[in-house]
Amino acid sequence: MAIETSTGLLGVFPVGSRLNERQRVEVGGCDLIELAAEYGTPAYVVAEDDLRARARRFVAAAHSATGAPMSVVFASKAFPCIAVLEVLAEEGLWCDVASGGELYLALRAGFAPGRIVMHGNAKSEDELRAALEHRVGLIVIDNFDEIRRLEELVAGRDAAPQPVLIRVTPDVRGDTHAKISTGQANSKFGFSLADVQPALDRIAAIGGLSLRGIHAHIGSQLLDLEPFRRSAAQLGQLGPFATWDLGGGLGVAYLCEQQPPTIEQYVDALAQAAREHLGEHSQLLIEPGRALTAPSAVTIYTVQVVKHNVSTWVAVDGGMSDNLRPMLYSAVYEAHVADRIGGSTECVLAGKHCESGDVLVAKAILDDPRVGDVVVTPVTGAYTYAMANNYNGVPRPPVIFCSGGQARVVERRETFEDMAARSVT
Ligand SMILES: *Cc1c(COP(=O)(O)O)cnc(C)c1O
Repeated sequence: MAIETSTGLLGVFPVGSRLNERQRVEVGGCDLIELAAEYGTPAYVVAEDDLRARARRFVAAAHSATGAPMSVVFASKAFPCIAVLEVLAEEGLWCDVASGGELYLALRAGFAPGRIVMHGNAKSEDELRAALEHRVGLIVIDNFDEIRRLEELVAGRDAAPQPVLIRVTPDVRGDTHAKISTGQANSKFGFSLADVQPALDRIAAIGGLSLRGIHAHIGSQLLDLEPFRRSAAQLGQLGPFATWDLGGGLGVAYLCEQQPPTIEQYVDALAQAAREHLGEHSQLLIEPGRALTAPSAVTIYTVQVVKHNVSTWVAVDGGMSDNLRPMLYSAVYEAHVADRIGGSTECVLAGKHCESGDVLVAKAILDDPRVGDVVVTPVTGAYTYAMANNYNGVPRPPVIFCSGGQARVVERRETFEDMAARSVT
């Protein structure tokens, strides 16, 4: 439940959200019902100040954690919108990309190539070539086939050796959904512990590559710091390296009752684990995605239908085309009527798509929802926009930045013409 206090709307809304005199939710000083009227729904609404504040907290925590310098690398797949990337580039972060397209967006947003880290478990030759040509800071090698592909690409190349890491699966399981767990031994990502030495030997023999160290990412939406410590302890056994990239994965509260570690607790725990387990090193990287952007945004919808059978069904004008997470991995969200926070009507908040599984919130508690109401789901700033699609011919929503009462469309709503633009008939 969200609670109104003198300092604003508590709970899982972006920092600075509040109820205004009309009892409507304001995010970044903008009334959500007015935003809906002006820009239409569904729409992603980003509290720009909250986003910047989260970036600054990560950078400040990384700076004050003693030991080796720690770089904060935004996992851009969480919210690959140029305006979001621009904010994070301005705040001094690095950027993770996992495809040629993400590399393109990161460069467009102004990240220095030397601050870009290239990931991917199945990078194509073109993607690797682009990473080499732009001289990205690090390429994280995932498998033996990629070593061979890189060897061919750097052969005879007249350039400084490309710094690389190798991705290792430390066989640590975080307590999260199987579909976002990545650190187990039988993973599609990375080298198993047994393959690390042969991989290092192969890379050492390639003059055009400069091996800097080890990367591991154990999973996502982790609400406990222990798996991160176990991962660092496992990695430490691999011996000393100049660079360690400890991945991302810090969880966020989607519901008020969830209690994730704070950004500062997480960064301190990793710095401490690095001191304890990773020996002398010169560079430490962390790669938050979700914890940087998820809490900074909300999605607004308009109720189209309220119907009662066994349940009360509240159907809105979006769904799995703008937020696939509930369908993909049973993700949970809160929902509120934007001018009647609270309430006691248990409903199923459903989308408009032709799938029974298109349910955004299976158990939403709303205040007497009616057709035309604006409904808001908080904490939609990660893996929503990124996974948006045109199922049922629904145009993808706009992204609206709000700050100090000013709204600014940073990505317009897709049009029907956009959807036809690639047709060659
Ligand atoms: C997805 C991913 C991240 C970010 O994960 P979050 O849970 O969003 O913090 C970081 N590193 C790699 C390699 C990833 O694949």
